[in-house]
Amino acid sequence: MKVTVLGAAGEVGRSAFTVESNGTRLLLDYGVQTNREPLFPVHIRPRDVEGVILSHAHLDHVGGAPLLYLGEGLPAYGTPVTKSLTELLLYDFLKISGDYLPFDAESVSNFSKNYVSKGYEEGFKIGSIDAVLFDAGHIPGSAITYLTGDRRLLYTGDMNTTKTQLLDGVRMPVLESDIVITESTYSYSDHPARKDEEVRFIEKAREIVESGGVFLVPSFAVGRAQEIACILYSYGFKGKVYMDGMALKTNSILLENRPYIRDYELLSKALSSVEYIQDWAKRKRVVKEPCVIISPAGMLVGGASIFYNSRIANDQKSAVAIVSFQVEGSPGRRLLEKREVTIDGKRYKKVKASIYRFDFSSHLGKSELLNFFKTKIKGSPKIIVVHGERRYSESFAGELKSELGFDASVPEMGESLVV
Ligand SMILES: [Zn+2]
Repeated sequence: MKVTVLGAAGEVGRSAFTVESNGTRLLLDYGVQTNREPLFPVHIRPRDVEGVILSHAHLDHVGGAPLLYLGEGLPAYGTPVTKSLTELLLYDFLKISGDYLPFDAESVSNFSKNYVSKGYEEGFKIGSIDAVLFDAGHIPGSAITYLTGDRRLLYTGDMNTTKTQLLDGVRMPVLESDIVITESTYSYSDHPARKDEEVRFIEKAREIVESGGVFLVPSFAVGRAQEIACILYSYGFKGKVYMDGMALKTNSILLENRPYIRDYELLSKALSSVEYIQDWAKRKRVVKEPCVIISPAGMLVGGASIFYNSRIANDQKSAVAIVSFQVEGSPGRRLLEKREVTIDGKRYKKVKASIYRFDFSSHLGKSELLNFFKTKIKGSPKIIVVHGERRYSESFAGELKSELGFDASVPEMGESLVV
């Protein structure tokens, strides 16, 4: 079996890998790196692969997929939720960054036509390779991919073993593997106890809103935004809560996919307790009143959160709650590290509003990741550590070697490995 790393080598973003076995070549994910101008994985001709398996609907895993559909395309496999959410993300991506993108709406609709939905634990075949998806617990519909050809390969995608408001966490049997491609987003530290973070979040939200400020929560529209709404609802938050961006469409997709949600009733009650913002008049109005605003983009790269952030930047009563991973070089990372925000895309100004960071990660932390390898992986696989900042991924690969005796390494982009 041969694996070639087309992206996510020493970086969080643009995941893409090819796997070859017994004359079949397939693709795992085809993402985009969006922290500045879009960066795609190593180019691949669609006719050179028999299919693509998509792990989950985040742009860093699916954002490059339309490039495979400029012509006839190839079958794309994944859960039904991943299909609906990916379409939503891709059309939105075109709306926001269309001028910089080497594909158009036709490629997205071609992608939809070629999509084959597969549920968890429902086996399927691509050429001579058997595939099966397991619940990765990361966002609704997210999957761990297990392939059997002349060798066995497990691709974690992004995963979480902790129970959250929305999901139960990884559900997967112990699997014998010869190759594991693993994410390492948070492989450098452990997360604080989830419950403590939720309480701290609610306390801050109450404090800010009661003192007349805006509590801005920049969030990915898929997953994190709904998780935040569920936290506010389940702790009985009394203030006004607004949701902006693609939230409405995302919410209806999630509500149509009941089997992929841990507590459906909680989600539907939480979502009907928030008010939606869909126009600029309302945006300008609500940012002046004490409230919580959940708005994309999670890393302040685009979306209405940039507008809200610039409006509240000078207000000491208001606060920005960073609840997502902030990629190196992203505006959100700059806000956290330097307390600076852009006003017109070029100039920076210091932020007077408070900035809080909360860890509601949907990725497992260091001990959980090591534990995953200890308890879920059988055999002595070669481990390819990806989807993490290089220095962290490298030290994690070192720990996989020293603590568990695995042969682990961080690849370069374009590197191939044969097992
Ligand atoms: Zn993800």
